[in-house]
Amino acid sequence: MIDYDVVIVGAGPAGSTAAKILSEKGINSLLIDKEKFPREKPCGGGLPLWVLKRFPHLFNSNYIESYSYGGFIYSDTSKYKIEVHKNYPSIAMVLRKKFDNELVNAAIKNGVKFLDGVKVIDIKFENNYTILILSDNTSIKTSIVIGADGFNSITARKTGLFTKRRFTGVSVVEEFQLSEKILDKFYTKNRFCHIHLKIFGITGYGWVFPKKNHLNIGLGDCRLKSNRNQQNLKMIFNKYLEILKKQEIIPKNIKSIKLRGGSLPVWPHEKTYMNNVLLCGDAAGFINPVTGEGIYYALKSAEIAANITIKALKTKNTSGRFLSQYEKEWKKDFGKDIKYMLNSTKKIRNENEKFIQTMSKDKKLAEMLFDIMTGQQSIYKLRWKLIRRYVYSSSRISLCNLIKFKK
Ligand SMILES: Cc1cc2nc3c(=O)[nH]c(=O)nc-3n(C[C@H](O)[C@H](O)[C@H](O)COP(=O)(O)OP(=O)(O)OC[C@H]3O[C@@H](n4cnc5c(N)ncnc54)[C@H](O)[C@@H]3O)c2cc1C
Repeated sequence: MIDYDVVIVGAGPAGSTAAKILSEKGINSLLIDKEKFPREKPCGGGLPLWVLKRFPHLFNSNYIESYSYGGFIYSDTSKYKIEVHKNYPSIAMVLRKKFDNELVNAAIKNGVKFLDGVKVIDIKFENNYTILILSDNTSIKTSIVIGADGFNSITARKTGLFTKRRFTGVSVVEEFQLSEKILDKFYTKNRFCHIHLKIFGITGYGWVFPKKNHLNIGLGDCRLKSNRNQQNLKMIFNKYLEILKKQEIIPKNIKSIKLRGGSLPVWPHEKTYMNNVLLCGDAAGFINPVTGEGIYYALKSAEIAANITIKALKTKNTSGRFLSQYEKEWKKDFGKDIKYMLNSTKKIRNENEKFIQTMSKDKKLAEMLFDIMTGQQSIYKLRWKLIRRYVYSSSRISLCNLIKFKK
C-alpha cells in the first residue's frame, strides 16, 4: 500500500489549488481524478474580475481566454433591459477544459503526484489515518484527505458530512466554437454578455457569455428535489436558443448538439471537517446562491484547507478539533456573504418587471445590479429595503441614500 501525507480527491480548481500549495511546501501529496485530463466540465466559465485580484497568478493568457466589458440584463418577458458598458473589464472568461488543466499542470510542476482516470470508490477511516480504495484495485494510506470531488463528493458521503437538502441547483450549458469575426460582430471586441432573468419561469437565469472563439450559453435553476413536475431544462434550452435568435443575440445557424448538465450545491454542508478530513469547493457546498458562481469559493477554500493541513502535519495533529480552524477561516472569508445571499435569494427572485423597468432608467442602479449579477459587488452590501422603496414607492426617496453604500 502506498503512503502519502495528503491525498486530494478531485482535480477541479479546488483540488489542484490545494495540491499546488501543499507541494510547494514539499509535502508528500497525491492528486487523484476519476477523469483523464484534460477533461470537460460543464460551466459558464465566468470569473468576476475581483477573483483575479485575489488570485493574481491567474491574470495570465494561459488561463484567461477573454474579458467582458459589461452587457445586458433582461426582465422575465425581455420587455425591459439594463444596459451596462464599462471602460474596464468586469468578467474574465475561461474555457474550463483548458483552465482546469493549467491549474493541474501548475501543481504537477511543484511536484505533486497526479493520478488521473482513476476513481476513489471507497474510503475507510481508522484512528489517525485513512485508506482510500481506488478503481484500479489499489489502496492508498494517508494522514489527511482533502475532499475536492465536486457536488456528488464521495468524501462528503463516506464521512457522513454530506447534508441532504430540499433544494438543488440544476444547470445546462453548451459551448459553441465560433469565429472571432462573428463574435466581434454580435458582441463587439468588448464581448458584451447577456443575462435573461427568470426566462420561461425558471427561478434562475439564462446567460450568453461570448469568449475569444467560443460562445457559452446556459440556464441555471434552483429546484425543489421532490417536485417531479418540473419543466425539462433541455426543452427550455432549445426554446431559449429560439428567443435569442429572435432577439438577434446569437447567429441564426446555432443548433444545440452537445448540451451538458450539472448540479450545484445551494448551501454549505453543516460541517466541513472531521478527523483527518477537510472538504472544499463544491464538495463542501460552497456556491454563490444568487449567481451559481463557485470557482472563487473552490480556490479560496482550497487555499485555506492547504494552509491548515500544513500546520496540522507540522504539529502532528490531524484531529477534527485541530482541523476545525478550517471552518472558522472560511466562515471569516466568505461565510457571511453566502449566508446573506441565501437569505436574499428569495427576495431577488420575487422581483418583477417593474423592478428591471425602474432600474433600466437609472444608470447607477443598473450598474449596481449588473455588478451583483456578475459577482463584482457583494450582495451583502445591497440595501434591499431601500431599493424596493425606491422602485415601488410613489414618493421616491433620494437615490443618494441608496448609493451611499457604494465605495
Ligand atoms: C452549468 C454550470 C455553470 C457554471 N458556471 C459557473 C461560472 O460561470 N462561474 C463560476 O465561478 N462557477 C460556475 N459554476 C460552478 C463551478 O463550476 C463549480 O463551483 C466549480 O467547478 C467547483 O470546483 P471544484 O474544484 O470544487 O469541483 P469540480 O470542478 O466539480 O471538480 C471536482 C473533480 O472531482 C472529480 N471527482 C469526483 N468524484 C471523484 C471520485 N470519486 N474519485 C476521483 N475524482 C473524483 C471530478 O472528476 C472533478 O474533476 C457552474 C456550474 C455549472 C454546473
